[in-house]
Amino acid sequence: MASHSRHTLQHLRTLINGDPDRFSANVYTRMFSIDPDLRELFPAVMAHQRDAFFRVIDHVLEVVPAESGHAELIEFLAQLGRDHRKYGVLPEHYGVMYQALISEFAAVMGDYWDDEAAQTVTQAMMLTTGVMRGAAETAPHPALWSAEVVEKYRITRDLAVVRLITDSPLRFAPGQYLEVQVPQRPKVWRDLSPAIPPNPAGELEFHVRAVQGGTVSSAIVGETRVGDVWYFAQGHGTLHIEPDRPVLMIAGGTGLAPLRALLIEMSKRADSPATHIFYGMRHPGELYDLAVLRRIASTNPWLTVTAVSEETTDPWWITAMATPESLGVEHRIGTLADAVIESGTWDDHQVLIAGSPKMIETTRRRLVIAGVRASRIQHDPVV
Ligand SMILES: Cc1cc2nc3c(=O)[nH]c(=O)nc-3n(C[C@H](O)[C@H](O)[C@H](O)COP(=O)(O)OP(=O)(O)OC[C@H]3O[C@@H](n4cnc5c(N)ncnc54)[C@H](O)[C@@H]3O)c2cc1C
Repeated sequence: MASHSRHTLQHLRTLINGDPDRFSANVYTRMFSIDPDLRELFPAVMAHQRDAFFRVIDHVLEVVPAESGHAELIEFLAQLGRDHRKYGVLPEHYGVMYQALISEFAAVMGDYWDDEAAQTVTQAMMLTTGVMRGAAETAPHPALWSAEVVEKYRITRDLAVVRLITDSPLRFAPGQYLEVQVPQRPKVWRDLSPAIPPNPAGELEFHVRAVQGGTVSSAIVGETRVGDVWYFAQGHGTLHIEPDRPVLMIAGGTGLAPLRALLIEMSKRADSPATHIFYGMRHPGELYDLAVLRRIASTNPWLTVTAVSEETTDPWWITAMATPESLGVEHRIGTLADAVIESGTWDDHQVLIAGSPKMIETTRRRLVIAGVRASRIQHDPVV
């Protein structure tokens, strides 16, 4: 790419980063004024959409002028195009998005928007919308699957397990996460990680924690009923096990789900590598799935389980469950990062971390300082 074109895209990126939310809000306003029917496809509250949209455009403006990363960008955009079918986005809508983007970029650049700038930006946005549209039109699999809730139970006041059955088995790998829409919050999608591997019976299980003020998680934990129909889009994520290296798993809260799915899958194999899972919650009585981990470990000698809790005792609102001590599971008090680092050296292990963004960041940093190569640490995107 010529240096002036590179400079144009870099300058544009700096400008939109000055006020990301305003940029996204303006593009959506332009889209809805070109095609008012498009508004129907989106939820009433658009904060998530605006944020996600900005990150995509920012990524495009970062990678297009760069020397490498173009193949990954094309695959990223293609995946995005296939994913967007779940919103009901049609091929013609990409033309609307293109027009809205170009007119907002022209406004953002003001006096810098000359013929050369227009040509550079136009090409980058034609690539973006063209790849998304093409991938959506040629996608080999349906945009959506549905499943019916067959069981839901509360574990604590903010944690629930939901089990569903699909008509046709979903396509995902153990350890991946799915985009989910529940009937209580139409048009709003959130990522959830199945806690069991895919299976021919179409069974699905999710562990959901209601976050404070959470749009979807509170609705699931508080309002989900047997018979509800949930919608799912494609599986994402790359958590996986390499067979020739010992495994360290670190699960915080419902972050256990994808690691549990991997452990269940590993328990079907004869050659699973030695695996140590640290499973942590704030209170010991919240370690709701410890009995399942202990059961897997009892028939799979390659698995070691350590329970971790920040507090030594439970508050009054947690009704007694099996404790680590009653299950005969090692119990450490402290944060997950402390417990892991104090338990040994892990520099020859592959490491999988799942849980809150804060826990992932802290634990990852502590492991790297302790000598684990960053390239051997896997986790889902931190959002
Ligand atoms: C790859 C991936 C897999 C996930 N798997 C699961 C899973 O299996 N089970 C599960 O319960 N959740 C899981 N999540 C989190 C889930 O996708 C939602 O982010 C979470 O349920 C909150 O959504 P909400 O609509 O209730 O909250 P929102 O309405 O989006 O947010 C409300 C408030 O909560 C805060 N918030 C949002 N997410 C979190 C969070 N994770 N922790 C603390 N505060 C938060 C926001 O900053 C905001 O202040 C996963 C997330 C990712 C990225």
